[in-house]
Amino acid sequence: MTSLATTSSLYDLDFDGLQTRLVADGILAHHTKAFWRALQRDALTDFSTKPFSPPLEKWIQKNVGSGKIYQIDPLHQVDEIHSTDGLTRKFLLRLQDGQVIETVLMGYDHRHTVCVSTQAGCAMGCVFCATGQMGFVRHLRPGEIVAQVLHAQRVLRQMDPRRRLRNLVLMGMGEPLHNYEAVIHALGIISDVRGIGIGPSKIAISTVGVVPSILRLAAENQPYRLAVSLHGSNEEERSALVPASKKWSLAELISACRKYGELTQNRIFFEWTLIDGQNDSHETALRLIKLLEGIDAHINLIPLNPTGGYHGAASERGHAFQRILREAGFPCTFRQRRGIDVAAGCGMLKAEKRPRA
Ligand code: SF4
Repeated sequence: MTSLATTSSLYDLDFDGLQTRLVADGILAHHTKAFWRALQRDALTDFSTKPFSPPLEKWIQKNVGSGKIYQIDPLHQVDEIHSTDGLTRKFLLRLQDGQVIETVLMGYDHRHTVCVSTQAGCAMGCVFCATGQMGFVRHLRPGEIVAQVLHAQRVLRQMDPRRRLRNLVLMGMGEPLHNYEAVIHALGIISDVRGIGIGPSKIAISTVGVVPSILRLAAENQPYRLAVSLHGSNEEERSALVPASKKWSLAELISACRKYGELTQNRIFFEWTLIDGQNDSHETALRLIKLLEGIDAHINLIPLNPTGGYHGAASERGHAFQRILREAGFPCTFRQRRGIDVAAGCGMLKAEKRPRA
C-alpha cells in the first residue's frame, strides 16, 4: 500500500493504516475490522449509534470527532439535481476548505455507478470541458475521493437499503493520473472487500493521456480499467481539443497504450467525444483504425454535451462513424447522453453554478 504523510482524516487511511494507529494506542489489532466496517461498509458518520468493544468505544470517543485527532471528511452538499428519468443524480459537494466538486450517481438496470472527482478544477484545459475552462485549483486527498463514494452509498441506501454501488468511474472533475498517488491509494481503500468492496475490474480510471502515469500503471500492473480520452486521430485534430497533447503527443500516447496492453494484457477503452463536423468524418474513422491497429481496444463514442459553443454530433454521422469502426473489428458503443438534463457532463453543474454564486 502507498504510504502517506500523517493526516487527521480517517478516510485517508487504508485498513493497515488504521490498524497501525489503533495498535499504537494500545487497541488489539483484531478490533480494526469492526471499526473499518462501520467506517467504510456501513458509511456511518455518527459512531455513537453502534456498539463496539469497550476499549475501541473509548478510543473513538477520545479521538474521533470535531476538534479531535481524527475526523471523517465532511462533505457539505450544496446542491443536488435529478435527471427527468430519475436515474441520475448529480451532487455539488463543498470540501472543508470551501472548494466545490461534483459527484454523480447513476443507476441503470439495477446497477449503480458513482462518478467521482479527483481534483478541484483541472489543469488539462480540454476545450469542450467546463472543468477544463475553470483551471486547476488543487489535488484531492485520498480521503476526499473515498468520501464521495461514501456519500453516494448513503444516498443509495436511503433510496433502498438493499442497493449497493457496483461500479466506479473516475470521470468527474480533474485528471486522475495527474493525482496518481492519491488516486491509487483511494482505489485501494474503495476496492477493499472488508469495506466498500467495489471490485478493481469495476473501476475505470479515465485519462486524457498522461503518458508517464499510463506507463506507471502498466509497470505496477494496477488491476483497474483504463479509459483513454482520444478525440482526435492525428496530432492536429487532437491538439485542437486536448491541449495536454502538446505535452504528450498522440504518437507517445499510443506507444504508451501499446506498452500498457502488452504488460497488463488489459483491454483499453478509448473515449471519443463526437463533435459534429470536426472529428466524425469517414477519413477520421479510417485514420483511427490505423492508429489503433493491434491494440485490444474498445471505443466509446460520446455525443458532446452542449457547452462552450460545441454541439452534439448529428446521430446519422455518428452512426456512420461507428459502423466503419465496427466493420474494422473494433467493439464500438455509443454512450447514451444520460443525465444530460442534469448537466452531468464533466464540470457542467459547477460551471453553471459559478455565475449565480
Ligand atoms: S475532460 Fe477531464 S482532463 Fe479534460 S479538462 Fe475536463 S476534467 Fe480535465
